[in-house]
Amino acid sequence: MRQKIEEMTALELGEAIRRGSCSVTEALESCLAQMERQEPRLHAFVTPLRKRAYEQAKRVQEGIRQGKYASPLAGVPVAVKDNMLLKGTRTTCASRMLENYVPSWSATAVEKLEEAGVVILGKTNMDEFAMGSTTETSYFGVTRNPWETSRVPGGSSGGSAAAVAAGEALLALGSDTGGSIRQPASHCGIVGMKPTYGTVSRSGLIAYGSSLDQIGPLGRNVRDCAALLDVIKGRDSRDATSLDHPQESFLKGLEGKLRGLRVAVPREFLAGGLEEDVRNLFFQALKLLTAQGAIVDFVSLKTEPYLIPAYYIVACAEASSNLERFDGVKYGYRAQDCQGLHQMYRKTRTEGFGWEVKRRILLGTFVLSAGYYDAYYLKAAKARRLLREECDRIFEKWDVILSPAAPTAAPALGESLKDPLQMYLSDLYTVTANLAGLPAVSVPCGTDSQGLPVGLQFMGAALQDQKVLQAALGYEEARGSWQLPFQRGGEKK
Ligand code: GLN
Repeated sequence: MRQKIEEMTALELGEAIRRGSCSVTEALESCLAQMERQEPRLHAFVTPLRKRAYEQAKRVQEGIRQGKYASPLAGVPVAVKDNMLLKGTRTTCASRMLENYVPSWSATAVEKLEEAGVVILGKTNMDEFAMGSTTETSYFGVTRNPWETSRVPGGSSGGSAAAVAAGEALLALGSDTGGSIRQPASHCGIVGMKPTYGTVSRSGLIAYGSSLDQIGPLGRNVRDCAALLDVIKGRDSRDATSLDHPQESFLKGLEGKLRGLRVAVPREFLAGGLEEDVRNLFFQALKLLTAQGAIVDFVSLKTEPYLIPAYYIVACAEASSNLERFDGVKYGYRAQDCQGLHQMYRKTRTEGFGWEVKRRILLGTFVLSAGYYDAYYLKAAKARRLLREECDRIFEKWDVILSPAAPTAAPALGESLKDPLQMYLSDLYTVTANLAGLPAVSVPCGTDSQGLPVGLQFMGAALQDQKVLQAALGYEEARGSWQLPFQRGGEKK
């Protein structure tokens, strides 16, 4: 009997399309039908691209017939976070500032999707300019968690994570500056990966913190994510920080490996704000890893107290400088009825940006200002170097650093923004990978007492993306099957 499209992984669907047992349009229609069912309750997309996707599906089908595509994902429908440019289609960053902005060129990662014959379903919702952990700061309204619609999906790539978790897309692209792929993946019960800094070109990704930002895949399992990373990786002359990753293919030769894997768990990560249920699930995962032959040790991460302060200083400093370009002149929103240039700047930025973005710009401008630069920005840069050195030392002895992806399961809608500082603290486990440029993957490791999913994070040394994927795959196989709410047919309101 033919397997139902919605039960296939992205790689299985790609294979079915290649064999001709399913057409590209049928694959697309299965996702569109799911979007029709899910979007009224979730709002994962800012801009669905139904018509464009149909046209692309037709072209791709013809390309497949001609043997044009090498990627195993040709014909597979994928969603893209709305901070990556897609030529001729509005790209909003979930901000009023870019509400009607239509770019004249595409991000390199998006171009690569199209070259591989991947079908783009639409642009997904996010926190405004990727600043946030809940997808509640979007100008276009919140996205809800497919597991429980009274909860946030996490953020900032919450739309991408919700779309995959709800079966609207088989895979999605997100961006990760301090956890924005891994944390929503954790909250939505899917896999999300932030690759080594430079693995994927940032050209055409609307910048938040340029030294931290990295595009990566979100998917239902580790293999699908590796396949998508293969499509988007590579050195790009339009991004001087991109690199030729020594790993030729992340998917080829990918095997789950736990035997002999040396796992370091930073003790500091198990204190304080870690929720009881998450802690229990984390220790269960440790047990499973040990039973499969991994060697687990507890280590100390002395730079832990500096992680959140250093991250928020660097991220806000870079954001304040990156967002200078939104001034009402170059592109995007422009306020009306202004007297003179200065008033136009002020009014445009006052009306165009939301509160969280303004908070970050103010913080960033402050830490970079004369007289405070040494006390804040320079100190953060030093802490960042110390962290990198400390990680290097850990990776001399251990293969991966293991932690929860987030200290809690998905918070209720409306809870987090009341106390932004508390929300910032929830990035504790994810920011290391960004500050030090390391690869990290979040894999679901169970559900808490409320039935909400929780993620386990594997982090590795720079350029050891394959090793991290192998550990994550090994864990995924040992953990066993994992069902999303739409696959169980048990969707709660
Ligand atoms: N929550 C973090 C922040 O608000 C991370 C965001 C991201 O990775 N884009 O900065």
